[in-house]
Amino acid sequence: MIQSHGYAAQQATTPLAPYKFTRRDPKERDVVVEIDYCGVCHSDIHSVRNEWQNAIYPMVPGHEIIGRVTAVGNKVTRFKVGDRVGVGVIVDSCRTCPSCKANEEQYCEVGITLTYGAYDKYGELTQGGYSNNIVADEHFVHSVSTKLDPAGVAPLLCAGITTYSPLRHWKVGPGKKVGIVGLGGLGHMALKFAHAFGAHVVQFTTSESKIADAKRLGADDVVISKDPAAMKKEANSFDFILDTVSAVHDLNAYLALLKRDATYCQVGLPDRPPMINMGNLLFKRRAMSGSIIGGMAQTQEMLDYCAEHNIVSDVEIIPIQKVNEAFERVIKADVKYRFVIDMASLKQA
Ligand code: NAP
Ligand code: ZN
Ligand code: ZN
Repeated sequence: MIQSHGYAAQQATTPLAPYKFTRRDPKERDVVVEIDYCGVCHSDIHSVRNEWQNAIYPMVPGHEIIGRVTAVGNKVTRFKVGDRVGVGVIVDSCRTCPSCKANEEQYCEVGITLTYGAYDKYGELTQGGYSNNIVADEHFVHSVSTKLDPAGVAPLLCAGITTYSPLRHWKVGPGKKVGIVGLGGLGHMALKFAHAFGAHVVQFTTSESKIADAKRLGADDVVISKDPAAMKKEANSFDFILDTVSAVHDLNAYLALLKRDATYCQVGLPDRPPMINMGNLLFKRRAMSGSIIGGMAQTQEMLDYCAEHNIVSDVEIIPIQKVNEAFERVIKADVKYRFVIDMASLKQA
């Protein structure tokens, strides 16, 4: 057994607190990673607080993990001790179903194993990256360029791939008008990618204080979504809209902005369903869709793209002792634009 320690929630209503636990010794295809940084995703908050009603405690959250390899199983071929690597939202899938065979492991038809809060094939409860180490099969571990700042890379493992994947799937690029809804952790990565892919990008935000940042991050235009007149001006003009908002909000105001046959893609996962006026879909044959993270090959492609184009997340680095405060600030949309925990601070815990 490997000794681990981190911060865990013992139940939905208590703050994260120091917690000791064990992880399996590496099997033949496993990689052991000493964690340097872990991003704070809004999904960690939904999960810890049981907002999706599937939480299993104790729960060490965290799925935006960057670290260094400290040991490998004897059949590991892609990594060696000392390599900089990342681990994201899933640590296993069946590998044989049509989705897994199509490199879309996130849609595994047998079921994915989440990095935390799930029972893995060994019957152990998975624990995430708000901790000093993790053990994962090499198929779910990614190579990370040492050219990039590791703290800024951590959020790419969830916020990065979750936005990169649908933007690629719906072929966002030159000549396309694209909307990004919500300027938080996912939203700011979506904005950077859509801009880098050459689209005309419009950022929708509820926060007037974020206008200048949105422009700096790559927005051609910024629309304050609380202003009905500004929203109306954009009617029937978008090829694609990516919605990253974490709370229930009025989708009808955005659906009306799509052109005929255009797609609205939801990556934000609020705890309650929205109300959709079907007329907004029918009368212009618009499509409503969703997307989760991305496959392992595409995650590596995204990390390599970021290394080539020098793209990382804008982060505020915190010690783990500040994580409960950080959760409260994320809920208030007061983060620019991702908290990342410096795991060296665990030594003081
Ligand atoms: P975040 O950093 O908190 O960003 C969410 C943004 O949404 C906020 O910054 C804010 O942007 C906007 N917002 C918040 N409350 C709102 C409200 N009541 N009405 C309108 N806008 C509001 O969260 P995140 O980490 O980016 O995650 C966003 C969502 O994606 C979460 O639900 C998370 O669970 C989900 N997620 C899904 C996947 C996936 O695979 N599909 C992966 C990761 C996360 P403005 O200030 O600009 O308005
Ligand atoms: Zn996440
Ligand atoms: Zn599968």
